[in-house]
Amino acid sequence: MQAAIGYAAFHHDTPLVPFQFKRRELTATDVQIEILYCGVCHSDIHQVRNEWGSSTFPIVPGHEIVGKVTAVGSEVTNFSAGDSVGVGCMVDSCGECADCQEHLEQYCNHAVFTYNSPDKHTGTSTYGGYSNQIVVDQHFVLKIAETLDLAAAAPLLCAGITTYSPLKQWQIGAGDKVGVVGLGGLGHMAVKFAHALGAHVVLFTTSANKIDDAKRLGADEVVISKNPDEMNAHAQSFDFILNTVAAPHNLDAFTALLKRDGTLCLVGVPDQPHPSPSVGNLIFKRRRLAGSLIGGIQETQEMLDFCAVHNITSDIELIPIQQINEAYERVLKSDVKYRFVIDLASLKNA
Ligand code: NAP
Ligand code: ZN
Repeated sequence: MQAAIGYAAFHHDTPLVPFQFKRRELTATDVQIEILYCGVCHSDIHQVRNEWGSSTFPIVPGHEIVGKVTAVGSEVTNFSAGDSVGVGCMVDSCGECADCQEHLEQYCNHAVFTYNSPDKHTGTSTYGGYSNQIVVDQHFVLKIAETLDLAAAAPLLCAGITTYSPLKQWQIGAGDKVGVVGLGGLGHMAVKFAHALGAHVVLFTTSANKIDDAKRLGADEVVISKNPDEMNAHAQSFDFILNTVAAPHNLDAFTALLKRDGTLCLVGVPDQPHPSPSVGNLIFKRRRLAGSLIGGIQETQEMLDFCAVHNITSDIELIPIQQINEAYERVLKSDVKYRFVIDLASLKNA
């Protein structure tokens, strides 16, 4: 076992604090990574605060990891020391079920998530990217183009793939009218991807002060979702709406905006159920309510390569890890432009 340092939460209502722990020795198929940057996902906050009821403490959050390879196991041929790499939300899966065979490891019943998940190797929980190093099986390590800014690429590993995957699954492209609900970490990536795929993009926000940013990021139109007149102007007009909101809210306001056969896809995971949907809204236009979970490893690499071609990264606020607790409070106030990323070099001052 090798010494590692990071930040952990020890209880659902106490701040994250410095934490020393161990990473496993490299197996033949493992890659060891010095973590340079890690994005701050709203899922980190949900889990640190045990809002999904599934947290095992201590938790070292972080699943938007980028860094440099420092060592590889004897059977690793795809990576070598010095490579720029990423790790997202998963670090293992069974490799044999239909989901794994179809490159959809995120839906494997035995998927091991990057933190707060039973670790086959240590018998404890997995520990994530708010730390100085990580050891990950090669299958779950992604290559990051040298042309991308590494800090701004970190959020691609979760916010990026979680929005790219449903846009591809629903075959979004030119001629489609696409809605994105919420301009946060996921939402701002969804706007960039939907725009790059050629769709007409409408951003729904509760924050009037985000209108100019949304247009700069690629939205063709911005709707203040609290304004019924603005919402009604778009009735029955959308092919697809991606809802990234992290809090319970009325979905009927959005299903009413779908065309016949249109889909409202949920990726936000609130701690309480939504007070909806209305069945009538769905059946009278054969509309669909769907969900989507991150993306498989192959598709994550495809997304990273797409980002390299289109020069897409996240808009970030880089912070030292000592500011993580304040950053959480700002995310909860929808006050981040548009993803916090931790500079792990700051751990040396911990
Ligand atoms: P975030 O940065 O906090 O963004 C969420 C956005 O939702 C906010 O910026 C805000 O946008 C809007 N919002 C917040 N509270 C709202 C409310 N009460 N009513 C309406 N809109 C509200 O969060 P994130 O990191 O993008 O994550 C979003 C959600 O996705 C979280 O629940 C997270 O756990 C989940 N998630 C799911 C997956 C998956 O695989 N399905 C992966 C990652 C994250 P405006 O200011 O524009 O209104
Ligand atoms: Zn995430």
